[in-house]
Amino acid sequence: MRKLAIIAIAAGVLLAFTKSPNAQSSTYDLVLRNGRLVDGSGGPWYRADIAIRGDAIVKIAASITDPAARVIDVQGQVIAPGFIDIHTHSRSGIFQTPTAENYVRQGVTTLIEGPDGSSPVPLKPFFEKLEALPKSVNIGSFIGQGAVRSAIIGNANRQPTPEELEKMRALVDQGMKDGAFGLSSGLFYVPGTFTPTDEVIELARVAARFGGIYISHMRDEAAGVVDSVKETIAIGERGGLPTQVTHHKIIGPANWGRSTDTLRLIDEARGRGVDATIDQYPYTASSTSIQAALLPAWAQEGGRAETQKRLADPGTRARIKAETIRIIKNERGGGDPKNIVIAGCGWDATLAGKNLADVVRLRGMEPTIENAAEAALWIVERGGCSGIFHAINEADLERILKHQATMIGSDGEIPIFGQAHPHPRSYGTFARVLAVYVRERHTITLEDAVRKMSSFPAQRLGLQDRGLLRAGMKADIAVFDPARVRDAATFERPHQYAEGVLVVIVNGQIVFERGAMTALRPGKVLYKRP
Ligand SMILES: [Zn+2]
Repeated sequence: MRKLAIIAIAAGVLLAFTKSPNAQSSTYDLVLRNGRLVDGSGGPWYRADIAIRGDAIVKIAASITDPAARVIDVQGQVIAPGFIDIHTHSRSGIFQTPTAENYVRQGVTTLIEGPDGSSPVPLKPFFEKLEALPKSVNIGSFIGQGAVRSAIIGNANRQPTPEELEKMRALVDQGMKDGAFGLSSGLFYVPGTFTPTDEVIELARVAARFGGIYISHMRDEAAGVVDSVKETIAIGERGGLPTQVTHHKIIGPANWGRSTDTLRLIDEARGRGVDATIDQYPYTASSTSIQAALLPAWAQEGGRAETQKRLADPGTRARIKAETIRIIKNERGGGDPKNIVIAGCGWDATLAGKNLADVVRLRGMEPTIENAAEAALWIVERGGCSGIFHAINEADLERILKHQATMIGSDGEIPIFGQAHPHPRSYGTFARVLAVYVRERHTITLEDAVRKMSSFPAQRLGLQDRGLLRAGMKADIAVFDPARVRDAATFERPHQYAEGVLVVIVNGQIVFERGAMTALRPGKVLYKRP
């Protein structure tokens, strides 16, 4: 042992000397000592030190005593790979808040953009802007099927011509060449909802050629959820690429319990060799625009002006309203206008945090479901709001979380601290899994939770040098106190950072310690490389 240590020191000195005659005598830039390593593999934690040089982990051993520019004794706290969030809406927020502090304080070191069929098209200018931006975290993107369709045929409900389909293929091809991790879809949204399965498969085949994956916000997460999972599996199977149900949930009390069926479908698909997986956020409420959630798709065809025209026509308005009533009763409203909360409105900031029953009362009416539907249409006419919808149950959530093929993704954003009333998932997702579903409820183990947040999404994205604590991997690391880590953000008070994460390292540099962001911005743009 003693002899080995001397050799290691000598080698280190030699290396430092070779680089520059004035180099310091440190072998390592940073050593984390006395950690409980939860290494991302899912295997049981073990006690070790980690040495970092440059942007990489260079050694993991029971005891590392070679000289280091800096040593942090983590005193038995957990050292884990930095968390990788495979589903984020961070593309505007990253430019306003390049620290992504809401994510870093949960231990997140990589954000993936372009989910739900929505990405910049083309991706290259977006990547160039990101390259020029000093940022605390790594960021990458999918290419979005909805955005591609919109660029070629707009928001119309029709099939593409052969020429249009060829143009869409070319845009996906370009997106993949630019470095996208795969094709995302949002078949629930306009214009994704107007896309036949075969058209998605045509585009998925393009992503498949580059080794990309398909990830989908499915057509229907309520009454049609089982068929939607079948469709997602079919797209992977016939498209010839890995396929993922994103933010898997079961919406509406009438549909609760169907995760038993959806998970069985995933198991059967995997059993016959289809690489189908899931991601999920740990909350029983979803968040999207009021319009997308509460209006039927046909009412949204063609864009905002067309929607307004339909709402202005009394007969059409009545048909829309009937659908909205049904959705509030059976789907996103969970049967009660109180379950729908306004997250933010550009045209009236005071509505944020109020539920739809409050809005109805403000307008001098009784909070019936019918009046709530009327209020929803009024909101859409005024310019729309984002909303939070409490219509998921805990049993489905836990059943999905326990599944081996489920990873964690926030579906969150980088909010402006204190502004509007966002879903707490942006501030709490990863810490909440560790606090509520590991420590309090024992739904999954600590090791499995970390796997679902690190090596599993890394594998899915093809990030071969991240997501595990191993010598040679990039040094993206989160140190946290397993007894104290928790989400503080609530639906009532969302703007609260997670607690219990102690140190966050991105590409070997410390971006967060002692309760504050550092001045370092080591985040990289990540690209899919074949
Ligand atoms: Zn989504």
